[in-house]
Amino acid sequence: MGGESVSNAHLAELLAREGETSSGILVRAFRRAARSAFLWPERAGDLYAAGRPLTELHGVGPFIARKLEAWIEKPSKDVFRVPAIRRDFLTRADARMILKSDPAWAQRLRGDLQMHTVWSDGSAGIREMAEAGKERGYEYIAITDHSKGLKIAGGIDESALLKQAREIATVNKARTTRGLTVLRSIEMNLSPRGEGDMDPRALAKLDIVLGAFHSALRKKEDQTSRYLAALRNPDIQILGHPRGRIYNFRLGLKADWRRVFAEAARLDKAVEIDSYPDRQDLNLALLKIARKEGVRISLGTDAHHADQLEFIELGLAAALKAKIPAERILNFMDLASLRAWVAKLRTRRR
Ligand SMILES: [Zn+2]
Repeated sequence: MGGESVSNAHLAELLAREGETSSGILVRAFRRAARSAFLWPERAGDLYAAGRPLTELHGVGPFIARKLEAWIEKPSKDVFRVPAIRRDFLTRADARMILKSDPAWAQRLRGDLQMHTVWSDGSAGIREMAEAGKERGYEYIAITDHSKGLKIAGGIDESALLKQAREIATVNKARTTRGLTVLRSIEMNLSPRGEGDMDPRALAKLDIVLGAFHSALRKKEDQTSRYLAALRNPDIQILGHPRGRIYNFRLGLKADWRRVFAEAARLDKAVEIDSYPDRQDLNLALLKIARKEGVRISLGTDAHHADQLEFIELGLAAALKAKIPAERILNFMDLASLRAWVAKLRTRRR
């Protein structure tokens, strides 16, 4: 390990394993702590070396702190394989280190293309999200509440979408968010056949449309055909959280990714890096294939709260690490170019 302290990812894995061999309330305590470890802003090992208490870290009580201290003091020599369900997730501490290697990269960011509000399952209003976006120096944000088919997430129908448009127009005129444009969008629920659940005429009025799968996500068989169908759906421009994986919960779908990304590139559509810490979907391994196929990449935090806009660091870092060319990233475009790209895709459909 040299002088380097043990990484937060390594500690997260040890916590997750501890959860698997525990019983009772400890199972949840360890699982929760493993997830929290991904969000710690600095390495627990560095904190410990500086003599600061580990209980400063989110989700760490005295019991977990003692466990962590033992692991930090005596790093185990075992090299273990992280199971696929927890593999290829960046911690926030990793992301910050990656972004430090090229400070100009994050400065290219002009907006965030996936977030939820109180209109579906988010906890903040549109104005609050817009103000948070403006504070981050963004030129635009896309409001992507869930569509009506996803009842569990409070999905909205065409008439709610129209009411939301009025609220967005008001926020776009507000003084407090001047300089930032709130884009009308939606996270449209796609059936496993790649079909949407909203009237295409309502979708055509939106600035940009994200489509995503939320069902039959534990299928073991190859799902290439559903991805090809989704990309060919003329109503969407971005395929959100493509794999559908969730840290330590669900592996996500299998597909011939080379074919999927090649088709996205041929259609000039974008695939997303959903930067929510538990998702990080696309992940680094798939992003490398995406780079080879030359597909466009969209960055979205999938924020459900204004504070979660900071998750964008994870997506920015993954894209940088995968060496995605800057011109392939939607969020590096200015608003006019982004709109022109959407318009071009829409004329091509006929
Ligand atoms: Zn989703």
